[in-house]
Amino acid sequence: MPRVKDGFRLYDTHVHLGRARHSGRTQDVDLLLRSMDRAGVDRSLLLPFPVVDDYRAGHDRIAAAVKAHPDRFAGAACLYPFLPEQEFREELKRCAEELGMRALKLQPQYQPLNPVSGRHDFLFAAALERRLPVIVHTGSGAPFALPSLYIVPARKFPDLPIILGHAGGSYYYLETIVAASLCPNIFIELSSLMPHHILEILGHVPPERLMVGSDLPESVETEMHKVVLMDLAREVKEAILWETGQRLFDTWAPNQ
Ligand SMILES: [Zn+2]
Repeated sequence: MPRVKDGFRLYDTHVHLGRARHSGRTQDVDLLLRSMDRAGVDRSLLLPFPVVDDYRAGHDRIAAAVKAHPDRFAGAACLYPFLPEQEFREELKRCAEELGMRALKLQPQYQPLNPVSGRHDFLFAAALERRLPVIVHTGSGAPFALPSLYIVPARKFPDLPIILGHAGGSYYYLETIVAASLCPNIFIELSSLMPHHILEILGHVPPERLMVGSDLPESVETEMHKVVLMDLAREVKEAILWETGQRLFDTWAPNQ
């Protein structure tokens, strides 16, 4: 039984499954389930790593995990943004329609797309068409990973939820406040921040647009429990720890 859970349901909206070519890490289902159980996490959104040997096989692996544990996992796609547009669209269609994916991940640190240029509008258009919220890694990997850049696609696609993963990190978290203040469809995932950063964000952005994520198994307890332990109203914590993720990844994107 986890030491810290306090009766909250926990939705980890950012954890990776598969083998990462850039870091050499491998994270399998058993490892993730063990870390979830240790921290009392009820449900996790599984993301591919950004640099993989075979992105289709990576998507299949995530879909198999979701199929084996539908109560514990939802899945997301991640595709290199410089694939030919048709290939990108076809795999995203397969992910949404055949594999039941619930989100599209972009990782500008390893996939240096420029969301301001318009060249990549098709990524956001395709995600909206498939009703997949877009999760973008922000922080390390600047300038392409700067949170403020995503104001541009958020305004072009106001019906598309865009989640700023890792909240820009402690170095750029103020940019996430600016971006989320300007765009009601921008959401913030809080991994890597300290509690005082989260309090500052809550001064500007409602908890209905905030969520927790771990990224890696060794961070699950720290990332979930830092919010459980904060001095916040219970309903604020419920929104951040469960409801925002559940609404975006289990309800908003029904794929049917
Ligand atoms: Zn990540």
